[in-house]
Amino acid sequence: MIPITSFAGQSVALFGLGGSGLSTAKALAAGGAQVSAWDDSPAALEKAAAEGIRLDDLHQADWSSFQALILAPGAPLTHPAPHWSAAKALAAGVPVIGDIELFCRERALHAPGAPLVAITGTNGKSTTTALIAHILREAGADAQLGGNIGTPILDLEPPSPERVHVVECSSFQIDLAPSLNPSVGVLLNLTPDHLDRHGTMENYAAIKRRLVESSDFAVVGRDDDWCEAIFQYLKGAGHAVVGVSNTRPNALGTVSLDMGHLRRTFALPMLKTLEENLFDLSRAPALRGAHNAQNAAAAFAAVERLGLPHDEIGLGMRSFPGLAHRMEQVGRRGKVLFVNDSKATNADAAEKALLSFDDIFWILGGKAKAGGIEPLRPLFGRIRKAYLIGEAARDFAAALEGAVACEQCGTLDVAVAAAARDAQESAAAEPVVLLSPACASFDQFANFEKRGDAFRGYVASLLAEDAAQGALF
Ligand code: ADP
Repeated sequence: MIPITSFAGQSVALFGLGGSGLSTAKALAAGGAQVSAWDDSPAALEKAAAEGIRLDDLHQADWSSFQALILAPGAPLTHPAPHWSAAKALAAGVPVIGDIELFCRERALHAPGAPLVAITGTNGKSTTTALIAHILREAGADAQLGGNIGTPILDLEPPSPERVHVVECSSFQIDLAPSLNPSVGVLLNLTPDHLDRHGTMENYAAIKRRLVESSDFAVVGRDDDWCEAIFQYLKGAGHAVVGVSNTRPNALGTVSLDMGHLRRTFALPMLKTLEENLFDLSRAPALRGAHNAQNAAAAFAAVERLGLPHDEIGLGMRSFPGLAHRMEQVGRRGKVLFVNDSKATNADAAEKALLSFDDIFWILGGKAKAGGIEPLRPLFGRIRKAYLIGEAARDFAAALEGAVACEQCGTLDVAVAAAARDAQESAAAEPVVLLSPACASFDQFANFEKRGDAFRGYVASLLAEDAAQGALF
């Protein structure tokens, strides 16, 4: 835990007692602050009370006594309307900040300049954050991984010059962290998302831009117009920035994907250029697909900036296990690979997985999202057969009709058994049984993690049965 000393002896209000709220309340109290904590949910209040947190109904509180409101990132600061606690704070002139801001103030007070890598973007944040931390750890560094992924930031070890904090930041967290100034700031990509909470795309992009603009060194994706504009803006302003791209193989000052490799092009005198080969992505099995090339390029640029030599970066890339439920390789049975992409709850996410393999035995279905799987039609040629589960099965069968062979399976266990059998018997050299449902899981599972865990379990049972029978594939 990181005791927060910047509010020692002062009163602060805290709204939102989910995972990071509980950790923030404890960190503030440990640093000597008087915390008045509250939540709209009785269950959250009960849990906090059981953990010894001092509750105070902020509806009734005297707001003039507070030095700050610490707001959970799940509660709206501005759109569609400020949460009632934020409205009360604003009316009383009390600053509204979040846990990442508390971390930044602590770093500025006790370990200014301690290495901090902050990662944001619409997609790929968790993968890139985990990859950077993994590369650093493999190289022997003390990398603290947290923020919007896994551990709340104030549950990590305190900042120090010998320790690197690698922190995933959502736009909500950036919005609540006015003094965020990472050593390395990474912005991967920007597509419309959470606009209900940010009002406009301009506002959303401006929040994300702040993370790289305030960094000592910026790493910015160049594959969408919004990020490219931010890259050009930073370059024009003389900010230290490196680009990353899947679509600009020879761009100067950019770590780019080129024929399956990460490369970088330098300008030499006399208008000559030199291309430097950085990493062969085929050597990193958990980083398949162009989307992961963007994540890998960003991670490469970030850890290189921290001083890691290329060979050590390469070792970390190769041994990266990937994140659970995101194109996670969960088993191999002879020539058949089993891949858990349960996080793909819409067509956009499933597209990334379908683009990454050729002979696909595709398990899909669940609770359908608007638009269904129609946007995936151009990729139907990669699918050898589809195995349908859940509520969406009938509609998806209609969408696939005439283009892809389908089997109605109802439930995931039946689908895994059928797909495994067909993949094994197929003539394909590298068949893949892929769970990438393009649907929410709620009709049959509590969440996408439970769905992915079930898939992993069914695959493990298949492999265990084989072992018991002494099967040879
Ligand atoms: P986030 O933390 O931003 O939600 P994740 O790393 O958890 O991102 O990846 C979630 C999904 O987003 C992946 O399963 C994949 O479908 C897609 N994805 C990952 N990286 C990228 C990227 N760089 N660009 C576009 N989509 C991506």
